[in-house]
Amino acid sequence: MNQKDLLLPAIPAPTPSAPPPNVPGNTDHSGIWPLLAIGFLFYLMFIRPAKKAWFNLPTLDQYLSKNPTCNTGLGIKCCYCGSKSIRNWGQRAANDWRRVHICNGCGRKLYRSQLSVYQNK
Ligand SMILES: [Zn+2]
Repeated sequence: MNQKDLLLPAIPAPTPSAPPPNVPGNTDHSGIWPLLAIGFLFYLMFIRPAKKAWFNLPTLDQYLSKNPTCNTGLGIKCCYCGSKSIRNWGQRAANDWRRVHICNGCGRKLYRSQLSVYQNK
């Protein structure tokens, strides 16, 4: 009997037993924080400024009360260049409910509106 046999067997170090992924009851959500941070940064950099820019434009009533001569009776004209050609664009896409009315003569954004489907919500 040598000295090696007299020693107690080494106790294996306890291994942290993390639950396997994709198992119900797995509460390890540490991987979601970077995704939330990236999403929040995307919101701060792109979505919030676009919303703010749209809200900063006057509504049609505000535009006409500020520029009463722009109501020609047959339509609206630009208060900068007098053009009666005004295009109606979506804020972010062609079918966006937030509409921006832009003068075709000078290219300035004149006023905002929203699709009537969303006005009473
Ligand atoms: Zn104009």
